[in-house]
Amino acid sequence: MPLVYLGLGSNVGDGAATIRAAFVELSRLLSSARLSRLWRTQAMYVKDQPDFTNAAAMGSTELPPLELLAALQGIEAEFGRDRAQERVKGPRKLDIDILLYGEFVIAEASLTVPHAGLRERRFALEPLLDLDPCLRDPKDGAAFSAILAALPPQGIYLLG
Ligand code: ADP
Ligand code: MG
Repeated sequence: MPLVYLGLGSNVGDGAATIRAAFVELSRLLSSARLSRLWRTQAMYVKDQPDFTNAAAMGSTELPPLELLAALQGIEAEFGRDRAQERVKGPRKLDIDILLYGEFVIAEASLTVPHAGLRERRFALEPLLDLDPCLRDPKDGAAFSAILAALPPQGIYLLG
């Protein structure tokens, strides 16, 4: 079964509580699920919005990539996310992105894996590396730890 890594984010309401509750839901989809530490991060793209809480989750799944994406969007909706009411890159109750899906490289209209923003986002890389500091990009074998080390500061610190 492929091992998948997911990025979670929330900046509407109690982000830490939302992420912990979303992880309970994810545990039904993923075998041997694990959650990273929780991080507090400044919004990267649209700056005039509250800080995010971010984490990463991992686990094995039988679901093919597009079915996994649909299941994750179902969980986002359960937690009250309504894309029709949102600004692009703006505040959201819960965002769950597929960061890595095994060693697969996917370029579908609705799904890019590894996630297109992963290599520029400390808020995605720090929690990802909590789960496995040795992870590499399946596209070119680059160590995510080295990619992270080369990024500029982005206002991120550990929660609690
Ligand atoms: P954001 O890019 O800020 O996460 P959304 O969560 O609204 O925005 O996602 C927008 C679209 O991105 C989704 O409808 C989905 O089809 C697409 N997408 C492409 N690649 C991925 C991925 N790896 N994980 C999650 N969504 C993805
Ligand atoms: Mg998303």
